[in-house]
Amino acid sequence: MTTSPRIVIVGGGPAGLMCARVLQRQGIRPVVYDAGTTVRGQAGTGRDRHRSALAEFIPADGDQIDRGQLRILLHQPLKPGTVHWGHELVHVAPLGGGVHRLEFANGVSAEADLVIGADGAWSTVRPLLTDAVQRGFWTPPAPLTWDHVPGATLIGDAAHLTGPFSGHGMSRAMLDGAELAHAITEEDNLDDAVARYEAAMFPRSGELAVRTCTPSQRRSSRAPR
Ligand SMILES: Cc1cc2nc3c(=O)[nH]c(=O)nc-3n(C[C@H](O)[C@H](O)[C@H](O)COP(=O)(O)OP(=O)(O)OC[C@H]3O[C@@H](n4cnc5c(N)ncnc54)[C@H](O)[C@@H]3O)c2cc1C
Repeated sequence: MTTSPRIVIVGGGPAGLMCARVLQRQGIRPVVYDAGTTVRGQAGTGRDRHRSALAEFIPADGDQIDRGQLRILLHQPLKPGTVHWGHELVHVAPLGGGVHRLEFANGVSAEADLVIGADGAWSTVRPLLTDAVQRGFWTPPAPLTWDHVPGATLIGDAAHLTGPFSGHGMSRAMLDGAELAHAITEEDNLDDAVARYEAAMFPRSGELAVRTCTPSQRRSSRAPR
């Protein structure tokens, strides 16, 4: 990517922060908006099983990380001012040509050449791409795809309609964020980047959704402490 597109990431969770970090390392300046008032908002909210992706951050005797600590870890290397806390997206609308206008509950508005919905299970960005809705907190994940929409995509829980206890949500969220960012920096334009990311992400999340819907997998899923 040779130009500097206006990239807006809605949501400063694992998916959004990972995406922002990889973009920044490649010289692109994304803006992240999050409804929470501070990076520490999730500290002490619970410990997530992480499979193998976070092994280097975890004590040798455990396979869990505090969700809030993870967010602080991912936020630390970002340039100051990257994340705008206290900005709850309430409306996003296409202006044509792949450009979108975003409006926040505090009265702020912004325009983006690419809006990345990293705003979790109850995503406000998702209706731009699909009519699918989260089926409820305790229901198993469902495969989700959508037709390509210029200037918009989803990463993490916003893209997966996932249940909380598969033990994969965090790693998948960060993988999505990193892959999309790499595609943006490597492809010639935003459309090609989003298409490349979605082509890899759809089968991956669909396969996981089917696998975690089987009765044996659901029995083996346990709630985190
Ligand atoms: C109780 C519970 C236990 C879990 N346990 C595990 C586990 O053990 N292992 C595991 O891998 N995963 C677990 N998960 C799932 C894991 O937390 C998620 O998969 C992961 O956090 C997804 O990251 P994300 O960045 O996509 O979304 P989120 O972490 O949900 O982050 C979304 C961000 O978007 C912001 N946001 C939301 N709406 C708006 C808006 N309108 N405007 C602006 N900002 C907005 C939020 O403030 C938030 O910071 C658990 C989830 C829950 C709820």
